Amino acid sequence: MSKSESKRILLKLTGDILTGTAGYGIDLDSVSRAAQEIKVIRGLGTDVAVVIGGGNIFRGMKAAAQGMDRVTADHMGMLATIINALALQDGLENVGVICRVLSAISVQELTEPFIRRRAIRHLEKGRVVIFAAGTGNPYFTSDTAATLRAIEIHADLILKGTRVDGVYDSDPELNPDAKRYETLTYTEVIQKELKVMDATSVALCMDNEIPIRVFNIMVPGNLKKIIQGENVGTLVVR
Ligand code: UDP
Repeated sequence: MSKSESKRILLKLTGDILTGTAGYGIDLDSVSRAAQEIKVIRGLGTDVAVVIGGGNIFRGMKAAAQGMDRVTADHMGMLATIINALALQDGLENVGVICRVLSAISVQELTEPFIRRRAIRHLEKGRVVIFAAGTGNPYFTSDTAATLRAIEIHADLILKGTRVDGVYDSDPELNPDAKRYETLTYTEVIQKELKVMDATSVALCMDNEIPIRVFNIMVPGNLKKIIQGENVGTLVVR
């Protein structure tokens, strides 16, 4: 098996990838597929930290737009990310991968608290670390949490796993001529308002010079190809 090109990665998974065909909630087959992909790259010797979103269950901004208090709604969104993190932990354990969930809000009966040094120690011991509850603060997203954690653990690369093949100049589901970018700069992403990650997280990546690769996690083997240095999806760099 050829070796990994990246030493330590932060994999950001949008909650939607767990829904399968149901369109809502958690489909266990989808959880096991994601776990299997992670197992492969862990087997290549890469340190793997994961941030999972909660959009398959609850999005704070959407509920706030319908009249809910934004802070309460975001608390519910963060709880949704914990549910997803526990599902992914179970999926990983089912395929023999040792992992730990570290939450940014205190739920000590269910997860460990987020303590940066502890997270790094788990990674050094070869465990997969799942960061739950985003940043622990309302008005942020899981993308920003992913960037923050990536910087904190000194990850080489953020891999944003979605259901599309990368970043396009228009919506590929609406426009058959939509063009996929191979490479973009942070500034282009912000200026063109491309839907890579939200602007806060792109700015944070730019300031800390951490590259982002956006790719389709639903295609089996994509994650492994990226880790082995193949040009999959769209790379965002300085
Ligand atoms: N959230 C939050 N603070 C954070 C991260 C997430 O308040 O630091 C809440 C927010 O309501 C968000 C929800 O958790 O809508 C789920 O996260 P997100 O929408 O980023 O999930 P994804 O789109 O990645 O599935």
